[in-house]
Amino acid sequence: MEFLPLFFQLNNRPCLLVGGGAIALRKANLLVAAGAQVSVVSLTIIDQLQALVLSSGGQYHCELYSADRLQAMELVVAATDDLDTNKQVSEDARARQLPVNVVDQPALCSFIFPAIIDRSPLVVAVSSGGHSPVLARLLRSKLESSIPAAYGQLANLLGEFRSAVKARFDNIDDRRSFWERLVEGPVAEMVFAGRRERAKALIIKELERQQGAGSGEVYLVGAGPGDPDLLTFKALRLMQKADVVLYDRLVAEPILNMVRRDAERINVGKARAEHRVPQPEINQLLVSLAKQGKKVVRLKGGDPFIFGRGGEEIELLAQQGIPFQVVPGVTAASGCAAYAGIPLTHRDYAQSVRFLTGHLKDGSCDLPWPELVATGQTLVFYMGLLGLELICGKLREYGRSDDTPIALVQQGTTINQRVLTGTLATLPGLVSQEKIVPPTLLIVGEVVSLRQQLSWFEVVAGGDNSE
Ligand code: SAH
Repeated sequence: MEFLPLFFQLNNRPCLLVGGGAIALRKANLLVAAGAQVSVVSLTIIDQLQALVLSSGGQYHCELYSADRLQAMELVVAATDDLDTNKQVSEDARARQLPVNVVDQPALCSFIFPAIIDRSPLVVAVSSGGHSPVLARLLRSKLESSIPAAYGQLANLLGEFRSAVKARFDNIDDRRSFWERLVEGPVAEMVFAGRRERAKALIIKELERQQGAGSGEVYLVGAGPGDPDLLTFKALRLMQKADVVLYDRLVAEPILNMVRRDAERINVGKARAEHRVPQPEINQLLVSLAKQGKKVVRLKGGDPFIFGRGGEEIELLAQQGIPFQVVPGVTAASGCAAYAGIPLTHRDYAQSVRFLTGHLKDGSCDLPWPELVATGQTLVFYMGLLGLELICGKLREYGRSDDTPIALVQQGTTINQRVLTGTLATLPGLVSQEKIVPPTLLIVGEVVSLRQQLSWFEVVAGGDNSE
């Protein structure tokens, strides 16, 4: 290690900043963020720097640098564009054993500023020791996106319980495993979801519990329509910490591959000789796994709250007091529309969009047909393949024009995506001649005709080889 990373306590401590330009301002921002009292020495100063320094209890000395200014200082930064001055500051500071940083001149520094990821009180510092600040910044931006913004709040909350936890567990190992459970469990998730008070109540409850397994929790996670790139960061994070994953047939293989490797996987879509596990059994299974202390991810295609029976699954969890969270996903309508180049609304053609189920019950489809024939709206039918003929027939019967465009999107957003387009009069015939592989989605309305104009989209979407 060329430099030892240390964190400096600068609250109310006097620091000298030599230089009054934009670079000095950047350093001043950091020093002030750490609570330092910054004295600036420079013949000129930019307004922003002056305002910052004066409003944070510091001082501005409009004069040439002289070593006298180092008197009573605890840390020194030289940020002038004059090499000699910078060098002089460095020598003077070192002669007085003061830590000194000279901007962009590692050889003159006794300390350097790292790239910072600030989730105060949690702070991550990255440094290349001055060899490649660009590389350090690149790493910082990678870390930025992988550390949830609320980590700081979590650290603050946990900090409040330090002494209580110490009093509760004598043994350091017990204490550590307690903290680990909090950080990896529902408490952290509650904080990330902005429910601080609930998180606090959970910590108190955990502290009161007799020793034993931590409480389990359930995440109802929307996995999107197929393309793994459409997963949310949150979905991915939870999938990677799950103990058990329950999934069904709509969840694509590449997405399942992103689940933590040693997590148990339960297929509730096709278990037991192709029979789906009945919904009440799934609900019960979620409860019993969570009661064993497991982190359970219930992975659902698209969005859990859109034709996903998500509401039913969390009802029982809520009744049983099991912590749960619902993570939205890209629903099939959004995914298929985007990847097929069909905007669901359009200023000229559709001012509203309606998601419907085309699921047949006893061979019919109970929908408010008179409302669906008004123009200026897009209709999206989920589960509409079997009912395609009936849907097109009803819409025509109730007055939607025969030549209304309609698209069938098969396995949307996946590499197997296919799009068939026609009209209410022609599509059922076209589809009957094709081998269609579910899942499929129907999009009805004038917006479908925009697809031709937006054909550049297919280059982006890929995998669409039909018409
Ligand atoms: N919760 C899901 C929908 C579940 S209902 C969501 O928000 O997307 C199941 C129906 O969704 C399927 O019958 C089909 O109509 C539609 N669907 C889901 N994924 C799809 C995909 N990749 N391509 C086309 N349709 C899809």
